[in-house]
Amino acid sequence: MSTAYFVFHGRLKDFLQRDQKQGQIVISFRGRQSVKHLVESLGVPHPEIGQIQVDGRDEAQGYITQDGDRVEVHPIQNGFTSEPRFLLDCHLGRLTAHLRMLGFDCLYQNDFDDSVMAEIAPREGRILLTRDRRLLMRKVIRDGYCLRSLDSFEQLTEVIRRYELRRAMQPFHRCLRCNNPLKPEEKAAILDRLEPLTKQYFDEFHLCPACGQIYWKGSHYERMQKLIEEIVE
Ligand SMILES: [Zn+2]
Repeated sequence: MSTAYFVFHGRLKDFLQRDQKQGQIVISFRGRQSVKHLVESLGVPHPEIGQIQVDGRDEAQGYITQDGDRVEVHPIQNGFTSEPRFLLDCHLGRLTAHLRMLGFDCLYQNDFDDSVMAEIAPREGRILLTRDRRLLMRKVIRDGYCLRSLDSFEQLTEVIRRYELRRAMQPFHRCLRCNNPLKPEEKAAILDRLEPLTKQYFDEFHLCPACGQIYWKGSHYERMQKLIEEIVE
């Protein structure tokens, strides 16, 4: 039997049980066990892991843990190298709408099951957003984030912080229904499709070329603007 000592930093503590959050966690194990495996056995999904230090040396997730190792595990750094594209777990319809509202590419279908998502995310290079850490622990998942909150606005704040999306926001660029990019549309061309009050108070419109949905800067937009301001603060 071997013994290793783990210390988790920052937001990785969210995954630990209350009595594990302070100080070090002692793990006893048999045979060849990677750091990744032992970390996941404590409930921390590998896409959340950043720097790993073993007795002060940097090591990769696949490092085989040795008897007596002292392992420090840090959360992955915020930010994302390329333009982020997301795949959202079912039941995250509200978060999907918020992210699309801010212009982000979000694939979402409430009938996708775990195996379908585990196949799509790596194939399309999408970041998996879920509250299911078991799903994030699947080997094929490279990029993913476990949402801590149940509230869709707090979830949005988490995602914006984790992937540093503040500067990449492009409100009114994507259809909330079908994820397709929107196009500006002349008011005159859609006049017959507008409600009287919308016709009266709004002049700027966008149209989804895929599903025909019309968008204007109404109450939902104003709520979202307020939220963005709060997030930026
Ligand atoms: Zn659409």
